[in-house]
Amino acid sequence: MADTGIPTGRTVVEKCAIATVDAEDTEYATGHLVVNGNRIESLGPGDAPGDLENVTRRVDGTGHLLTPGLVNTHHHFSQWLTRGLAQDSSLFDWLVALYPTWARIDEEMVHAAARASLGMMARGGVTTAMDHHYVFPRGAGDLLGAGIRAAAELGVRFTAARGSMDLGESDGGLPPDFAVETLQGALAATEKAIDAYHDASFGSMLHIAVAPCSPFSVSTELMRQSAELARRKGVRLHTHGSETAEEETFCHERFGMGPTDYFASVGWLGEDVWMAHCVHMTDEDIAAFARTGTGAAHCPSSNARLAAGIARVPDMLAAGVPVGLGVDGTASNESGELHTELRNALLVSRLGPHKQDALTVRQALRLGTYGGARVLGRAQETGSLEAGKLADVVLWKLDGIGHSSIADPVAALVLGAAAPVTLSLVGGVPVVEDGRLVRADEDEIARGARDEARRLARLAAGAG
Ligand SMILES: [Zn+2]
Repeated sequence: MADTGIPTGRTVVEKCAIATVDAEDTEYATGHLVVNGNRIESLGPGDAPGDLENVTRRVDGTGHLLTPGLVNTHHHFSQWLTRGLAQDSSLFDWLVALYPTWARIDEEMVHAAARASLGMMARGGVTTAMDHHYVFPRGAGDLLGAGIRAAAELGVRFTAARGSMDLGESDGGLPPDFAVETLQGALAATEKAIDAYHDASFGSMLHIAVAPCSPFSVSTELMRQSAELARRKGVRLHTHGSETAEEETFCHERFGMGPTDYFASVGWLGEDVWMAHCVHMTDEDIAAFARTGTGAAHCPSSNARLAAGIARVPDMLAAGVPVGLGVDGTASNESGELHTELRNALLVSRLGPHKQDALTVRQALRLGTYGGARVLGRAQETGSLEAGKLADVVLWKLDGIGHSSIADPVAALVLGAAAPVTLSLVGGVPVVEDGRLVRADEDEIARGARDEARRLARLAAGAG
């Protein structure tokens, strides 16, 4: 298993284009990369040195582009079972439509959904994933553990964000009362998850983050105590922030201030915090994020699907805000892929108000790799191709019909059709070969997800 074993010997990938996404954006038209154990040992132009010892595998990358593995910074795996519903709703109506179904999930469902979510992302070049799970119905089993198990099975590096909701409808929140936990229950379960699972070592396959869901589903006290817990334990903080105009209105009515000022008032700005969406941000909000090092998970497809708006990513980058990309839950981004978000981030950015500063193809690739690693607190380990970093690398096939006529390989990857993955390594261990998952049966995953989605739909219909 990749969470315990480090591969022995060297893997050499050569004769491919390389985009390192290092600080200088170094690229090689034709280059090589040497993996030794779970780390990148060396890389550069031309072929690898001929005198390398203990080479167990040599990959001819002709017609390919090698990049860092993609890093997903926001997702809700369980939503794999509720895709294609509430098709024309915006966020609050969509949530209200789906909460009752989500409240019927159990461990088996979440495991099947997590395998499908992770499988879909891994096939598209994701090497580091995250899941923000925040619905914990009583008696549903070990829902956090189900996602963690699935990530280990597929071999993907993982941040499990233990979510929570304690502000039910009767307290003025958005979720129904039966879908929320108590404040103390949520905190105790989150602390237990950190103690049981969080591994802070270099090359860790599993981080835990503290992740109360949103300002409109979580009490102020839970926000405050979650921040205290995370800092006591040295783990990261995550939540949804500034996603919609309705959230902004909710915060002004309930707290007398906008979302970012509210987060600041409960200790939720800092280098150890990243927030999903950050669409409705004022200049002052962006400055506060930049000053404190607070990160953003940009989810362009989900924002479009729920008509949330266009995040000011170029302004955030210009101010120095760490920004990564997110698939978001697949009930609001049914494709469930991150490599298509490179393109969507660029396109959406060009539809925004500041066309002249909109994202370039290389900025889009940086958001999906180094930017994501920075947002998850892992930029020292992954997110760029540099000697000493983890061998989380993806070899994209660009000589097929979809890409072969585009001379610039980075443009082909970002602007072209979703490129097939010939090889994806996580810590030097193959997770995808020739477009297929190595460690799991995709047909079995598809059947499992379909069966569990149907079981959930039946339960939800019975409950209604
Ligand atoms: Zn989300």
